[in-house]
Amino acid sequence: MVELTEPRSHHDCQILVIGSGAGGATSSALLAEAGFDVLIVEEGAWVEQDSMAPFSLEQMDRQYRSGGVTVALGRPSIAYTEGRCAGGGTEINSGLYRRPSEATLARWRTDYAIHDFGDTEFFTTCDEIERSLSVQTVPGRHSPASELLRRGAEGLGWQHDEIPRWMAYPDGGDAATGRRQSMTRTYLPRAVGAGARLLCEHRVDKLIVDRGRAFRAELTGPDGSPTTIDFEHVLVCAGAIHTPALLQRSGFRGLVGKALAVHPTVKLAARFDDAINVDDDVPVHQVKEFAPELSFGGSASHPGLVALALTDNWREMGNAVTAWPEIAVYYAAITSQGRGRVVSVPGLKDPLVTYRLTKRDRDLLGQGLARLALVMLEAGARQVFPSFKQAPIVSSRADLAELTGRFSANAASVMTVHLCSTVPMGSDRSKAAADSFGRLYGADNIYVNDASLLPDAPGVNPQASVMAVALRNARHFIEEHS
Ligand SMILES: Cc1cc2nc3c(=O)[nH]c(=O)nc-3n(C[C@H](O)[C@H](O)[C@H](O)COP(=O)(O)OP(=O)(O)OC[C@H]3O[C@@H](n4cnc5c(N)ncnc54)[C@H](O)[C@@H]3O)c2cc1C
Repeated sequence: MVELTEPRSHHDCQILVIGSGAGGATSSALLAEAGFDVLIVEEGAWVEQDSMAPFSLEQMDRQYRSGGVTVALGRPSIAYTEGRCAGGGTEINSGLYRRPSEATLARWRTDYAIHDFGDTEFFTTCDEIERSLSVQTVPGRHSPASELLRRGAEGLGWQHDEIPRWMAYPDGGDAATGRRQSMTRTYLPRAVGAGARLLCEHRVDKLIVDRGRAFRAELTGPDGSPTTIDFEHVLVCAGAIHTPALLQRSGFRGLVGKALAVHPTVKLAARFDDAINVDDDVPVHQVKEFAPELSFGGSASHPGLVALALTDNWREMGNAVTAWPEIAVYYAAITSQGRGRVVSVPGLKDPLVTYRLTKRDRDLLGQGLARLALVMLEAGARQVFPSFKQAPIVSSRADLAELTGRFSANAASVMTVHLCSTVPMGSDRSKAAADSFGRLYGADNIYVNDASLLPDAPGVNPQASVMAVALRNARHFIEEHS
């Protein structure tokens, strides 16, 4: 564990970094290594990775925001989860690493007029991230649930591949022996090693701004005690929900929080003849036959999460939970044309989040679930339990028409763990809320450097994109201010 900064009623620093997740940790490491006096403030606690089982309910309680129960309102509402701990989402996520495609980078560059956003530089930064996080495929055997997904896709002749993860494996290790190379294992120790201070369990409530220049942050400590921090520059890296919420509480509205983008997903639980559930790991294979519109993969399948996948039809499906060792949970994710909003409401601690799926999104979710059920049957599932109200239990291909006929997005448990685009970057001021390097429009010294900056959802797992953009912008800041 790194040494944490002791709480005080007031701190001073040159650069305040708010949030210690994928964006905040990488930015802090580079800035501290470049000689800046950096103070990182994190709302959650430092939790050692080995101190609890990954994907367990205990982990949800300690490292997820609101125990993992957060919702974007809409028809249907979309449940989303975020990390709230040192390292942010990187501590609790599946560790699946995907670079954005060249087509995605070109779309961002063109549609938002992002300056100096070349593929070569971007992918060189991805190389650097891959080395720092030891991104690699599983050296030995895969988990049974992953192998089944691969087998189902192969049987149908559908494109699939194994996604590398940010994991370190011992010699001769396999899927069960990986150690996640999250921010508490990589960039945060680097930042602190270079002199950055890390203050955990403090929430930044507001930035005080005078004529476009922020100079002070007001915080609340773990026991409710007030703290202030004075700074020269601030990087807001509180994630795609809390970055816009904090900026709004500090007086910035405009396009801030107006264009939330997510990858909505629907789930099913598949029951096989043998015990296949590995409750502390996730499958590493993904089916990409219909990408980028549709992708299929495996979810965490802790018994509690198996139960959650069955709750929409508990009366008909609930007794299957006793067979949880034979069950694994899988998802179909879509690229969405819909958008959402984040609005901070005076008097409420958390912002109001809404999201609107388009008709095409709703149809795609239904198609995705049916095709995913087909993969499962092909893999040998004897029963498939789709997660929407009034869903049939699918036991053969003949049942798929009934699944499709009964599906309604409004009745589905739609969720997401990929949130972005609430402060999009670019020089097109009709769409972007921050400039091409993350400086907030309307402010001299407030920078955003997290998932909020991505102009839209990348169609793949987003952490690589978040980190590459954060490293690029941190380097630009260093060049400008050294
Ligand atoms: C369950 C789950 C699984 C995922 N799986 C994958 C995956 O396999 N691959 C992938 O690429 N991506 C995955 N993701 C997404 C990935 O984790 C995020 O894209 C990434 O972490 C976003 O980085 P960020 O810096 O924007 O925000 P975060 O990493 O969320 O960091 C923000 C930090 O800011 C802190 N904070 C917020 N408000 C304040 C405040 N007011 N004051 C102080 N601190 C504050 C939060 O506590 C948090 O620690 C997953 C996410 C989740 C939740």
